[in-house]
Amino acid sequence: MYDKLIFETSKKGKRGVRLPRLDVPRKNDLIPTDLKRKNPVGLPEVSEPEVVRHFVNLSNKNHHIDRGFYPLGSCTMKYNPKINEQTCRLSGFTGLHPFQDENHAQGALKLMVELGGMLTEITGMDGVTLQPAAGAHGELTGLLIMRAYHESKGEPRRKVIIPDSAHGTNPASIITAGYDVVQIPSGEDGLIDLDRLRKALDEQVAAMMITNPNTLGLFESQVLEIAEAVHKVGALLYMDGANLNALLGIAKPGDMNFDVVHLNLHKTFSTPHGGGGPGSGPVVVKKHLVPFLPEPIPQRSGDGFRWADHSQRSIGRIGSFYGNFGVFVRAYTYILMMGAQGLRKVSENALINANYLKRLLEPHYDLPYNRTPLHEAVFSGDCLKEFGVKTTDVAKRLLDYGFHAPTIYFPLIVHEALMIEPTETESKDALDAFADAMIMIMEEARDNSDLLKGAPYTTPVGRLNEAAAARALDVNYYNRKTSTD
Ligand SMILES: *Cc1c(COP(=O)(O)O)cnc(C)c1O
Repeated sequence: MYDKLIFETSKKGKRGVRLPRLDVPRKNDLIPTDLKRKNPVGLPEVSEPEVVRHFVNLSNKNHHIDRGFYPLGSCTMKYNPKINEQTCRLSGFTGLHPFQDENHAQGALKLMVELGGMLTEITGMDGVTLQPAAGAHGELTGLLIMRAYHESKGEPRRKVIIPDSAHGTNPASIITAGYDVVQIPSGEDGLIDLDRLRKALDEQVAAMMITNPNTLGLFESQVLEIAEAVHKVGALLYMDGANLNALLGIAKPGDMNFDVVHLNLHKTFSTPHGGGGPGSGPVVVKKHLVPFLPEPIPQRSGDGFRWADHSQRSIGRIGSFYGNFGVFVRAYTYILMMGAQGLRKVSENALINANYLKRLLEPHYDLPYNRTPLHEAVFSGDCLKEFGVKTTDVAKRLLDYGFHAPTIYFPLIVHEALMIEPTETESKDALDAFADAMIMIMEEARDNSDLLKGAPYTTPVGRLNEAAAARALDVNYYNRKTSTD
């Protein structure tokens, strides 16, 4: 399986494309000499089939959703319908310039206004910004909006409360927004402990951020009481909406009395993500926060669409241009293709799939918070300790069986966590095959733990130093490894 780098495939004079012959006189002096390149650019010279094979082979080295099951908990790695890719490649969209006059970008503005309307309807909220580039960016935006709200009342406040099951981006966003983090321990049932919350609440609390369903896949059944307690001290309630795939068409954050919610279009509403791909983290808010939304805001105007006038109280820009437009087109296509009934089915099937997997695996793995989960279930690999095996070993071994690993070691409140989110796009056969692999690995742990500690064996590279592999990229590692094997 030795693969050359594309630079090693290069042979002088080979070409993938040929431009048509010039049909105008050649002019050589259009670019000033001092701006011209002194040395050749050093691009590989290869034919079209060589380029195609190179990248197709590379794409097969990584696990991806078009190749197999990808149960990465919290990340909602659902199949991305290919029609999304067709619509976002429409030349009317790809040819737009970010500074295009609004009269010449009516279709794009209309899409943004309508997508925003769909998101506010789905969530039961009043206003929206599509600008944030990811979930974490949405959190920061939401916090800045809440900060502006409190400051407009002359009381900036100091603290934001999160439960200890929170996603790591929550405390990071709180600090970035200039607040102190107050973390409260979850109750034994894995939910927010209302008594502890009440003790932590005072007039210095600006907001509480919760994920619902939470990172254990459990619905915060006391959310109305939580909202009441938070609002009573004048604080605001924020929902990290990354787990919205459990709620579509079933429950609205607006009805749960949240003031601000961020959504992850790249999770709930398809769009390929992972490996740093483009995301989008729209923020939806209730009426009292609408004046603080970042600008620019597209809006309806007569028969057409335009950018809204400047609002004195807006927090201003939070990114360049208008957000990740390609992701908007994908989410818009996805929502229209699904329709209201279809979206509800998405969540219903996501819930059924997660509960089915939970039932298959619970006789074999520990389940510390054993309640009916919504869209994901969090197991613990603690039961493997007696064989000297860790959750990491299970994750690596799954690759040999052709599956991506679940999310591991998160949430932090579960030892040796294995967070499994199947999503609605997997068949019963896929779930059965995954459960079989998990059970087989448990048997391997018992009978041959050394085998697990060396896994994976079938991937292009085995166990890398994960920090160094990302920070000190060594593109020749694989070639050296195969030549010494
Ligand atoms: C994914 C996720 C985030 C962060 O979203 P990004 O788009 O990765 O920045 C925040 N909270 C939860 C619960 C998540 O699953």
